[in-house]
Amino acid sequence: ARTGRPHEEIVRLRRELLLPNLAISYDKPIKFVRGEGVWLIDDRGRAYLDCFNNVCHVGHAHPAVVEAMARQAAMLNTNTRYLHDNIVAYAERLTATMPRALTVAGFVNSGSEANSLALRLARTHTARENAIVLDWAYHGTTQELIDLSAYKFRRKGGQGQKPHVHVASIPDGYHAPPDWPAEEHGKRFAESVAELIDAMKARGDGPGFFMAESVPSVAGQVFLPKGYLKEVYRIVREAGGVTIADEVQVGFGRVGSYWWAFETQDVVPDIVTMGKPIGDGHPLAAVVTTREIAQSFNNGMEYFNTFGGNPVSCSVGLAVLDIIEAEDLRRNALTIGNYLLAEFRAMQERYEVIGDVRGLGLFLGIELVADRNTKAPATEIARAVSNGARRRGVLLGTEGPHDSVLKMRPPMIFSRRDADHLINVLDETFAAVLTGTD
Ligand code: PMP
Repeated sequence: ARTGRPHEEIVRLRRELLLPNLAISYDKPIKFVRGEGVWLIDDRGRAYLDCFNNVCHVGHAHPAVVEAMARQAAMLNTNTRYLHDNIVAYAERLTATMPRALTVAGFVNSGSEANSLALRLARTHTARENAIVLDWAYHGTTQELIDLSAYKFRRKGGQGQKPHVHVASIPDGYHAPPDWPAEEHGKRFAESVAELIDAMKARGDGPGFFMAESVPSVAGQVFLPKGYLKEVYRIVREAGGVTIADEVQVGFGRVGSYWWAFETQDVVPDIVTMGKPIGDGHPLAAVVTTREIAQSFNNGMEYFNTFGGNPVSCSVGLAVLDIIEAEDLRRNALTIGNYLLAEFRAMQERYEVIGDVRGLGLFLGIELVADRNTKAPATEIARAVSNGARRRGVLLGTEGPHDSVLKMRPPMIFSRRDADHLINVLDETFAAVLTGTD
């Protein structure tokens, strides 16, 4: 038997009581009542393999996270104007995962708030407004971040590009002009940023900051070409700007080989922002920066954040870091991610529609194309595969400018058995969709 209110009633009440454009996944929405590890259980008791959520980093309802949260909530929670061990313990632990120059933390409550704080840091440091962002990026839900998110401001309901916003091309090797040698992709795509800076200079102006996801995700799980960020950071800094790495989706060891995805590009950003997986679902987010930028921000105006860095949130953050280490989850992400990549590539040989397979650790994308030569997007097939997988009890998403990239970001505890389950369901779904029998 189902539990709680019927779906239709919840949909109706949402329509009456909540903002009407608050998103729901799937045409026929799912009502989950419980989460456990890699599984989400719906109101009929059916279990779905969660390959998508990206907040349940160490697994849904991880007992050690729940325990840390409950223990601290039963003891004390306050606003952040008092002394407490947790906030400094967490700042110590979090900054210890970062390159040596990044020593100062700020705690907030969402990825958007982290990016907004990053903008304040950058602006007080450089006294400049000009932003360089990547095409089809998404950086958050406040107006100033929507203004930096081409994914939002260019689409229906958006207000277009503001004068302080400068958009560089998506450094997507798969869609690079065919006459660009692969080993030059980093350099060639960085030229798009150089051109924007040249145009600013011609007006006697310069960049305030460059902000990008370390693996552009909303743009379709795009892995930056080798050398790209190194070159971009060099030219942005040379022109007086600072660099911001948005690690909201890709941080905390998701890419397996490193704690932070920017490390795969061998760079050190001036500001790093984090969110989603940081609290295993608990609303917590953070900014980490250099002492120098923190000093500029300390301009006489007090900084106060009611919830950011409260004792309960920091307790949860500490538990998540402990689990990533104790359960060796970065290594697991790399091992299972490599296994999935190899299996997806084998699938690519069987299905013409799979144009590209890409990933690092447990951050994976499969781009579907109508034609491998033109690389025209197979949007409808991507949608059908996502819906078909859902009917078979596997949650994944679609992403990219044409919604033609299957996107997977399963919890870091994803096992070989879970991976086999995902592979079998994907294989069955592709076969059914492509023969028109799904
Ligand atoms: N940056 C990136 C890259 C994101 O994907 C998101 C959320 N999808 C955000 C920032 C904003 O995070 P939040 O929704 O927690 O405010």
